Amino acid sequence: MPPIYLDHHATTPVAPRVFEAMRPYFTEIFGNPASLGHSFGWQAQEAVQTARNQVAALLGASPAEILFTSGATEANNLALKGIVSVSRSRRPHLITLATEHKSLLDPLEGLRRAGAQVTVLPVESDGLVNLDRLAEAITDSTVLISVMAANNEIGVLQPIEAIGRLARARGVVFHTDFAQAATLVPLDLGSTNIDLLTLSGHKMYGPKGVGALYVRHTRLGEGLGAQIEGGGQERGLRAGTLNVPGIVGLGEACALARSLMTEDRIRLSQLRNQLKDALVAEFPDLRINGSWEHRLPNNLNVSFPHVDGELLMAGMKDIAVSGGSACNSASGHPSHVLTALQIEASLARATLRFGLGRSNTEADIARAIAQVFRTVRRLRSPAAGAGN
Ligand SMILES: *Cc1c(COP(=O)(O)O)cnc(C)c1O
Repeated sequence: MPPIYLDHHATTPVAPRVFEAMRPYFTEIFGNPASLGHSFGWQAQEAVQTARNQVAALLGASPAEILFTSGATEANNLALKGIVSVSRSRRPHLITLATEHKSLLDPLEGLRRAGAQVTVLPVESDGLVNLDRLAEAITDSTVLISVMAANNEIGVLQPIEAIGRLARARGVVFHTDFAQAATLVPLDLGSTNIDLLTLSGHKMYGPKGVGALYVRHTRLGEGLGAQIEGGGQERGLRAGTLNVPGIVGLGEACALARSLMTEDRIRLSQLRNQLKDALVAEFPDLRINGSWEHRLPNNLNVSFPHVDGELLMAGMKDIAVSGGSACNSASGHPSHVLTALQIEASLARATLRFGLGRSNTEADIARAIAQVFRTVRRLRSPAAGAGN
């Protein structure tokens, strides 16, 4: 039996309906949407427009505010660098949190080296932003606040509506990385103060290599500098021939997310709660990382005291999950998110991140519970104790 996939924060499979929608755009309807001299181009352009409408509908945005990119990494880079590049301030100031995704923290570090001022705020022990601290960090030079809606490791949901109100009141642009939230957190951009928002296709049952950046029209009409220049596509903000099949897939994934969101939220939170209740009952010293109340319905992130992290991960043969080490590191450094929660390194390494998804069933959860019980009991038994 193949392992059960419980790593939907890393990526999701393409939904069959999404794949079917994309299929004709590889070989049959292959035109370049910029070729407006013939019907091949028109058909492709129409498909892109439909997708733009579908993405906008999920977010409560208007279609002209959606800009297609190669994924969330590019969208995050464009949001940060695009704002800094048009800033009139000599040393523009940007604020973010220590628990953000690397596709945000790394370009911010680059901007800092190039002369920008960057404040990376710590989070509370439950992973939430401290709003007073955020308000205090804003200065006359602050051009952008970027805080993710949902964390990809601990699933913590930040108060993006309150942050938006704060940013707007102080005249600061607010960006949020919505990649993990897209299928599970309802949003109506019309009634929030979010100015920039990032999506990723492959975190929402769409294809890899496509994403979007929402850019609030009324606030940022021309207020974003292009980072990729060329043929003037996407209103000159992101050049390059559009990835038509990918964009069609992202659009269909958004339409599907819209119709399944309520069902997904209820079903996945029930399964996730079953998993949590079983683990807590068996291992009362289990540590749940991140706020339980403000959390994605499909996420569970737990650490096991007195268990070797490497052996724990090695024991998870039946289930595909992530551990508590930085995913891009063979050195076993604990993840920067768990470190920001002040979790001690050896405990952080003994962490499992479960990310449930649409295909998961009660039987999957039962198998996951059995796997964790077996492995943790074995690692904690005196016979296994050489290393403990
Ligand atoms: C996966 C992810 C990204 C990166 O998305 P890509 O589309 O793979 O570039 C960025 N932010 C968050 C929160 C993510 O989960």
